[in-house]
Amino acid sequence: MSVLVVGSMAFDAIETPFGKSNKIVGGAATYIAWSASNFTRPVQLISVVGGDFPREELDMLQARGGQLEGVQVKKDQKSFFWSGRYHMDMNTRDTLETQLNVLGNFEPVVPETYQDTDILMLGNLSPAVQLSVIEQLKKRPKLVVLDTMNFWMETAMGDLEKVLKKVDILMVNDSEARQLSAQYSLVRAAKEIMKMGPKYLVIKKGEHGALLFSKDHVFFAPALPIDEVFDPTGAGDTFAGGFVGYLDNTGDFSFEGMKSAIIIGSAMASFCVEKFGTTRLRELTRQNIDERIQQFIELVNFDIALV
Ligand code: AMP
Repeated sequence: MSVLVVGSMAFDAIETPFGKSNKIVGGAATYIAWSASNFTRPVQLISVVGGDFPREELDMLQARGGQLEGVQVKKDQKSFFWSGRYHMDMNTRDTLETQLNVLGNFEPVVPETYQDTDILMLGNLSPAVQLSVIEQLKKRPKLVVLDTMNFWMETAMGDLEKVLKKVDILMVNDSEARQLSAQYSLVRAAKEIMKMGPKYLVIKKGEHGALLFSKDHVFFAPALPIDEVFDPTGAGDTFAGGFVGYLDNTGDFSFEGMKSAIIIGSAMASFCVEKFGTTRLRELTRQNIDERIQQFIELVNFDIALV
C-alpha cells in the first residue's frame, strides 16, 4: 500500500502568547509526511520548494520513508512563507502573512512511480494544483482525502468546488466547515458539505476533538488534554497524516476503520502541539505512540450502569 501526499513545504513564523519562533520549517506536506511515516512507507510527496529550503530537511524526510521524486526544487526562487499569531485560547489564530513565492506558479508533475497509489492525501494547497494531481493519475486511488482552508475559499472557490466533487473525504476545522456551508450547526454544515461531493467529512475542533460524519453516522474523537500546548501549527496536518497513514496500513476504509483512524490522528496531533514546528514529531518512537494511543483508550473508556 502507499500514500501520495500533495501539499506545501514551507517556512513558517509563529507567534503564540508564550513565545515566538524565527523562520522554521513547516508546510502541510511536511507535517503530513512526518506523521504518516509512522504507519506506512513510502510516503510519496508532491510539492515545490525554493533554493532557500534546507537540503538536510529533504534528506531527513527521505530517511523517514519520504519519496521525493515529485518535489520540485526551484533554485532561484523562494519557498512558500506563512506567518500566524495565536490567540490566548491557542485554538484560533490570525494569518499575518502569506507569501506564495514558488507556490504561486506551481505546476505539479506526478512521477510514473506514484501512479499506483492507494490513498491520495490532498493537503492544503491551491485547489487548481490539487485538481491537476487528480487529473494526472491514470487510475483513481481507492481513497481521496482533501484538506483546504479559508484562504482558498476566499480566493479560489470555483476550483475548490470542482475538487470537492472528486474526493471521498473532506477534512476541515469547524470554522472552515461553517464558512464553506454557510451553516452554524455542524450537523447541518456536514449535510450541506456532503451534497458538494465528499461521502465523509472530518471536522477538527482543536482542543475539543474531532467529528467524523457519514450520511447516516457520526462519531466523536476527543483531543487529549495536554499539560502545555506550545504551538498548534501543523496539528491539523499531523492529524491528517496519522489518519491516512493508519488507513493505508490497515486497508480498512469502512466507517468503523475510519473511527480508529481519527483516534490515531488525534493521538498524533497531541504530540505535534507539544513543541514548536515539527520538533516533537521528529523525536517520536513507536513506544511513545503506543503509550499515547493507550491514553486515548483510557480517556474514552467507561462503564455505565443504566438505572
Ligand atoms: P495547520 O496548522 O495544520 O492548519 O497547518 C499549518 C501549515 O499550513 C503551516 O505549516 C503553513 O506553512 C501551511 N499553510 C498555511 N497557509 C497555507 C496556504 N495558503 N497554502 C498552503 N499551506 C499553507
